[in-house]
Amino acid sequence: MNPHMMDIPLLISSLIKYADRYHGDTEIVTRTVEGLIHRYNYSEAHSRSKKLANALSNIGIKHGDRVATLAWNTHRHLEIYYGVSGMGAICHTVNPRLFEDQICYIINHAEDVCLFFDLTFLPIVEKLSPQLKSIKKLVLMTDQQNMPTNTINNIICYEELIESESEDFSWPMFPENTDSSLCYTSGTTGNPKGVMYQHRTTILHSYAAVMPDALNLSARDVILPVVPMFHANAWGLPYAAALTGSKLVLPGSGMDGGSLYELFESEKVTLSAGVPTIWMGLVNHLKKEGLKFSTLKRTVIGGSAVPPAMTRTFEENYKVEVIHAWGMTEMSPLGTVSTLRNKHLPLSKKEQLSLKDKQGRAIYGVDMKIVDDDGRELPWDGKAFGELLVRGPWIINSYFKSSDFKTLKVDENKLSWFPTGDVATIDADGFMQITDRSKDVIKTGGEWISSIDLENIAVSHPDITEAAVIAVHHPKWDERPLLVAVKNEGSDIDRDKLLDFFKGKTAKWWVPDDVVFVEELPHTATGKLQKNKLREQYENYKLPTTNK
Ligand code: ADP
Repeated sequence: MNPHMMDIPLLISSLIKYADRYHGDTEIVTRTVEGLIHRYNYSEAHSRSKKLANALSNIGIKHGDRVATLAWNTHRHLEIYYGVSGMGAICHTVNPRLFEDQICYIINHAEDVCLFFDLTFLPIVEKLSPQLKSIKKLVLMTDQQNMPTNTINNIICYEELIESESEDFSWPMFPENTDSSLCYTSGTTGNPKGVMYQHRTTILHSYAAVMPDALNLSARDVILPVVPMFHANAWGLPYAAALTGSKLVLPGSGMDGGSLYELFESEKVTLSAGVPTIWMGLVNHLKKEGLKFSTLKRTVIGGSAVPPAMTRTFEENYKVEVIHAWGMTEMSPLGTVSTLRNKHLPLSKKEQLSLKDKQGRAIYGVDMKIVDDDGRELPWDGKAFGELLVRGPWIINSYFKSSDFKTLKVDENKLSWFPTGDVATIDADGFMQITDRSKDVIKTGGEWISSIDLENIAVSHPDITEAAVIAVHHPKWDERPLLVAVKNEGSDIDRDKLLDFFKGKTAKWWVPDDVVFVEELPHTATGKLQKNKLREQYENYKLPTTNK
């Protein structure tokens, strides 16, 4: 070992220690689940995280134990992030929007010993607790005043748990490759799979996330993560905010356009982050009420492709810069961000915006390539598309407690790559563009059609709110695209008018064979279109082109 440099492990506790010491008076504001606005700062968050760590030791939580949460983005959840991981236990964020049997499966599979939950989720916990075999302690994340009287026995009140604890706690030192937090992917097919992060991977990912060409965070920012802390650690923002000393605004359960807008304005938010569905709600609210943002400068959108029309609405109508990002739970989650290079500055706004429609360039630490069905690397010409493979220090090696070691693909140079399940192109400047999920592409007469491209065209029609394109069986072509769309209230658009709209915007043979209008589309727990549901629903759909 090189003895000339300090050997200090990269631990999550160092983030909150830093934020306390150098940004102690910077605020953390929460819209609490109880309804009030809670306001404190990094120093107080640090003290309470230490009190929590003491309390956890007292109730028997040990190094390596898994501690589950069913919770919104709040200051208490933040204290659990730091208190649990900081003391050497593992913070397991469970997605409360999953089906109840999936929640049970996840908690039992992880063998969580303790469950922290918000008042919103008391009914779920009451119902599921007999089936949660490993859970020994239930902690309700509220104060004494809001503790329910008529509920299951032995629920501990969060505020009471930490109240009398000392804030004297020295964060233990341990190897940086110790497990720190756990998050299961939603598992649109099969059981959810656990992704176990480490202290080292979390810190490295946080460094990478704050860079100017990534999310560009600083101590001047006020960050409101709309992306939930139970979804890939809110894209790492609770860690990255402490690393930069940014003010944090946590929206609790208030995810509707009105509640979010109110917080954006009252707390002078400069940067936010969330999936496209959330922004659709917010933009509709702004349009309806004739509102504008006064401080919001940037918004990170990812989790699924950002419809080009949304980018233009934000940038042109609201003067908010869109940071289009791509990643996966398995990648901690950041992989690429669509930020321009110096050579792109002379381009017209229109050309710059079309670059932003791509998922973007790999951030330092992430290596990627596209390969064909035989694993041969494809050229970076922006045209050839194939399966996207990634590798890097914060990318999964194998799923938690899974004997499935075939997670990775080994290439001719004996390097291991994680197959993302995404199909993409990469252009000469390194901008990656997802053309589809490998299971969503429409395979027609030996050629592939990108469902995402067609959806983008459909939603760029002013009368269409949301659209999904799925493959339907065709006797001659094998598969053909069917467009399932939601139209705006009061619109009289019909099939032919909508299909006409595709003319000139895509190859003739890509135009969907038919359109079905529906009231709403099914979404996964993380707000993504649930195309497997639609495929099941329209499995026997008879296209009007069957005989062509
Ligand atoms: P889940 O929804 O299963 O919890 P993830 O958030 O990890 O999981 O989903 C990762 C997948 O989401 C990616 O593989 C990709 O298909 C899709 N995705 C994420 N960001 C984008 C983006 N900007 N554009 C298109 N697809 C995206």
